[in-house]
Amino acid sequence: MFKVEDIRKDFPILSRKVNGKPLVYFDNAATSQTPQQVIDVIVDYYSNYNANIHRGVHTLSQEATDLYEQARQKIQTHFNAKFSHEIIFTSGTTHGINLVANGFSTLLKEGDEIIVSALEHHSNIVPWQMLCERTGATLKVIPMNEDGELVMTEFDKLLSKNTKLVFVNHISNALGTINPIEYIIEKTHKVGAAVLIDGAQSSPHIKPDVQKLNTDFYVTSAHKICGPTGVGMLYGKEEWLKKLPPYQGGGEMISEVTFEKTTYADLPHKFEAGTPNICGGIAFGAAIDYMNTVGFENIAAYENELLKYGTEKLLEIDGLKIYGTSKHKTSVISFNLKGIHPYDVGTILDKLGIAVRTGHHCAQPIMDFYKIPGTIRASFSFYNTKEEIDIFIEGVKKAKMMLS
Ligand SMILES: *Cc1c(COP(=O)(O)O)cnc(C)c1O
Repeated sequence: MFKVEDIRKDFPILSRKVNGKPLVYFDNAATSQTPQQVIDVIVDYYSNYNANIHRGVHTLSQEATDLYEQARQKIQTHFNAKFSHEIIFTSGTTHGINLVANGFSTLLKEGDEIIVSALEHHSNIVPWQMLCERTGATLKVIPMNEDGELVMTEFDKLLSKNTKLVFVNHISNALGTINPIEYIIEKTHKVGAAVLIDGAQSSPHIKPDVQKLNTDFYVTSAHKICGPTGVGMLYGKEEWLKKLPPYQGGGEMISEVTFEKTTYADLPHKFEAGTPNICGGIAFGAAIDYMNTVGFENIAAYENELLKYGTEKLLEIDGLKIYGTSKHKTSVISFNLKGIHPYDVGTILDKLGIAVRTGHHCAQPIMDFYKIPGTIRASFSFYNTKEEIDIFIEGVKKAKMMLS
C-alpha cells in the first residue's frame, strides 16, 4: 500500500488554499487532479516536440507522431484491447458516445430498440434520444430501485430480438453504484445486440479488461483518470469499427479524395478527422502510467476505506440522508440534509475551502426518482485523507447549524 502523504506531494494543487483555508478537494467524480508527472509531460511536449503528426517528414513531426502512437499503445495495453487500432482518440466520453450513436443511425430502422439505464449521465441519454428521432427506433429504460441499483429482472424483460444496442455506465457518477455489466453484456449478446459501456467513473478505480468483459464498445475521459481535459478514448471491437461509418469528415481520416469519391483511411484514422489533441493524448498515456505505478488494487482498497469512514461519519449527523446505498459502490456519497437546499450547503462548504458538487450531477432522472432537486455529492480519490473527511464533516455540521 502507498503512503498517502507521498502521493499528495505529486499533486501541486493540493497544497493551495481556497478562501484562506487548505483546499479539501472532494469533487473527483467531476474531474480528477493532475500529478506533476503528467504536468511535466505536457510542458515537455510544448517545450520540445510540438508539431503536427502523421504528415511531416521532418524530425519534430516524426517524434510527435511516435509519442502519440506510443500513448495509443499504452492505452491499448492498459485496457487490454486486442489491437491498437481498436483505440480511437476522442475529445472525451461524450464524443465517444456520440461517435457510436451517429454510426448506428445507418444501422437502425423503425421497430428497433435501444436500452439505456435509469442511472445514466445526460451525455448517455441525449445522443440516444437524438438517434431514435432520426431512425424511428425506440428507447427503453432499465429501472432502478431505492438503493440506486438497476433492476436486472426488468432488464431481462426488456431484451428481445428488437434490441440492437444496450448502453450502460459501469459506475453511476451521481450515486457511485457499480452496475453488473458482466451480466448485462452476456445477456445482451444472447439476443445479438451490441453493448457500449460508459467507463468514465470506473476507469479511475478499476482496471478494465475489454476482451475479458467482451464489451463491443467502451468509452472514457482522461480527465477522470488524472489526465488532462479534452481527450479520451473509444474502444471498439475491430468488426464493429469497420461496420460503422466515419463520424466527421476532414483531414487524416481519408485515404484518397476526388470530387467524385473519397475513400476512407484505415482504422483508427477513419474516426480521427483533423488535428487531434496531440499533447492531450500523450499526457493521457502518462496518466495511465502514473495510475499503474500507484496500482489500481491499492487505489480501490484505499478509496473503499475512505468510503466506509465517510459514510459512517456522515450518518452520525441527524437528518442526513444518503442516496445510493448499494453494497456495490465506489467512493461517491450523495446526500441531503433535511429541509435544506443542497446548493446552500455547497456554498458554505466552499467558504471553508471544501469542494463538493451540488445539483443534479447531469443525472436528472435519478433526482426525479427520489423526488429531490439534487444532492450534495462528495467523491473521494486516492489522494484524499481521513483528516480531510473530518474537516468536511465539521463543515457539514456547521452548514446544518447555520441553515436550520
Ligand atoms: C464525466 C462523465 C461523463 C462525461 O464525460 P466528459 O469528459 O464530460 O465527456 C459521462 N459519463 C459519466 C459516467 C461521467 O462520469
